Amino acid sequence: MPELPEAEANRRRVAEGACNRTIRDFALGEIRHMDLPSEAERAPFLGTRITETRRHGKYIFLGSKSGPWMVVHLGMSGSLRVWDDGADEEPDHAKFTWVFEGDRRLSFRCPRKFGWVKVTEDPGSFVEEAGLGPDAMEIGDNAFADRLGGSKQAIKSALLDQKKLAGIGNLWSDETLYRSGLMPDVPANALSAAQLAAVHREARAVLEGVLKTNARYDDLPGDWLIHHREDGADCPRCGGTITKKTVGGRTAYHCPDHQEGGG
Ligand SMILES: [Zn+2]
Repeated sequence: MPELPEAEANRRRVAEGACNRTIRDFALGEIRHMDLPSEAERAPFLGTRITETRRHGKYIFLGSKSGPWMVVHLGMSGSLRVWDDGADEEPDHAKFTWVFEGDRRLSFRCPRKFGWVKVTEDPGSFVEEAGLGPDAMEIGDNAFADRLGGSKQAIKSALLDQKKLAGIGNLWSDETLYRSGLMPDVPANALSAAQLAAVHREARAVLEGVLKTNARYDDLPGDWLIHHREDGADCPRCGGTITKKTVGGRTAYHCPDHQEGGG
């Protein structure tokens, strides 16, 4: 499921390939049960250009200084693809396509249909209305400790809570705690200031590491948990055994041999 670095990689593709081109039309694929802009909502975008792209947490914003904007949420398996009509094949599962003048196209590909596109006046008010916490790449040390440290929730659940901190999901919360040496079910309010600072530092390092590869997981170092997410796999850090357990309703992969605390 796409998290902050995956959303950022998609935003970069739009910034590089689909900005400053006049929108001539929109094309819709098979969109039953999907939340996408209506014809009336699409109309104000015709003849305009995407001149700015932004991202907050897992949300991607495409628009212009004066607005309006479209917000894309990738859901479980969505992605944004830039392609050229005639030269490239249309991506499969293309649900919503920006048709630019000339051959350039931008398609929202969404095989499992959990993603969506909405219209908003501006990204700031969307973030506020959705009650999202600060972006996980932007938040400072003190704000991180304040927002997560007081919680009785398991540290993994606190990291996943988009209202505390926006952008971290199942995969990268596990990777963060694996590197921090903390069990996923340690209550957040049981962590010392130094432990919370370490969680923040490792979360940033994980997100930065994934961003550096543009979310191509094969390019991540071999000792990352992502390459060993299997019950019974060997832990590349300590030789222990990777184990899974359910924390806050989510499957958490971890190594009980070098991750401490919890029950
Ligand atoms: Zn280990």
